[in-house]
Amino acid sequence: MDPVRSVKGMNDVLPAEIAAWHLVEDRFRATVERYGYREIRCPVVEPTNLFVRSIGEATDIVEKEMYTFVDKGEQSLTLRPEGTASIVRAYVQHAGWSDAPVARWYYLGPMYRRERPQKGRYRQFYQLGVEVFGDPGPLVDAEMIDMAVELVRGLGIERVAVAVNSLGSADTRARYRDALVAMLQPHRAALCPDCQRRLDQNPLRILDCKVPGCREIAAGAPVILDHLGEEDRAHWEGLRRALDTLGTPYEVAPRLVRGLDYYRRTLFEILELGGELGAQNTLLGGGRYDGLVAELGGPPTPSIGFAAGLERIVLSLPAATVPNDAPTVLVASTGPVTQEAALTAARTLRRAGISVDQDLRGGSLKSQLRRADKVGARFALIVGDEELGRGAAVLRDLAKQTQREVALADAAASVRAALEGER
Ligand code: ATP
Ligand code: MG
Repeated sequence: MDPVRSVKGMNDVLPAEIAAWHLVEDRFRATVERYGYREIRCPVVEPTNLFVRSIGEATDIVEKEMYTFVDKGEQSLTLRPEGTASIVRAYVQHAGWSDAPVARWYYLGPMYRRERPQKGRYRQFYQLGVEVFGDPGPLVDAEMIDMAVELVRGLGIERVAVAVNSLGSADTRARYRDALVAMLQPHRAALCPDCQRRLDQNPLRILDCKVPGCREIAAGAPVILDHLGEEDRAHWEGLRRALDTLGTPYEVAPRLVRGLDYYRRTLFEILELGGELGAQNTLLGGGRYDGLVAELGGPPTPSIGFAAGLERIVLSLPAATVPNDAPTVLVASTGPVTQEAALTAARTLRRAGISVDQDLRGGSLKSQLRRADKVGARFALIVGDEELGRGAAVLRDLAKQTQREVALADAAASVRAALEGER
């Protein structure tokens, strides 16, 4: 029988790869918790309507990329394509504003989009994200962008570009939209079929189109920053001042728009430069979505957030940043008599906080030591008949190729001392 394979674009993360994933997840948690964020976990499945209302009908995600199904003839459900819509739904459903006027929430988990799989682009992928509800900015916007830069750089990803733009308020967007349509209308025939449709439904999305012909035309488009109203401009200038004060590196990207309809004012991305990600080099993107909470039935609540792609960050990690997750000790035994003593010795080491691997099948010492090599253990603790009679065992340093006898009762301290000696 043919073995069953995973769904196209949905990947297993194997144990050999997991150290890098844990590193990124742990750093993300530690970083955002230092900024006062608390975790929220939402379901992976939501009513389809939630995404249509929040992300916008004329977006790639809603038009082509959602995994939608009818649940036993009852209700249309969708695997979440992104996090913000669910978090906002939860914020409204649980009256998140009742605890404190400003809420700082973070999340991580899988998202689903039916895109064409390629490096850095998958159908199931993981996002790390944050949201702040109830603060109109711009200081919190700057703090969030700066936090994202700290996170990425802290992971050893140094070559990045930070792109920042402002889309203005709903009014500004509407005014800009008219100017954009007026400029693009004469080029209609030269746009790709998708963009011809976008021109009527959602012209800003044309600036985000990846088709070369559309990019060329879009390069001549008016710039939204020239259309900002007075308050939008003050917000934008406040953001730039705060970023300058923090010393956050950034570039103004006047044509940056993003794939979701709900963005207002501040918009930003961090791109990795010079790596292997190719066109999929946006590590994270975010922005302000001041209208969304009200749109989904809550009180008017200014809000801002970003989401980072976990796989893309993992692909960008310099090898040196990834910690070694090999066990410290492999406990081996020489035969049936010592096997049970070795079992106890391993537990003693583990209780002392040392990671231990062991092959309990009763194979030869040679094969047990081969395993020590294979898993990358630093030490082998060999429990032999003769030594056991003295309450001792041999501690072999596999890196230095040295060994000595240690008392079984002191094995943990001996391992510690050997490691300490290297610092
Ligand atoms: P892109 O322009 O690369 O398609 P996007 O604008 O669709 O990104 P968002 O929806 O803002 O991205 O998601 C935030 C981040 O999630 C992206 O910057 C990226 O790192 C990651 N991401 C988005 N889609 C995918 C995917 N299909 N596979 C892997 N990571 C993804
Ligand atoms: Mg996309």
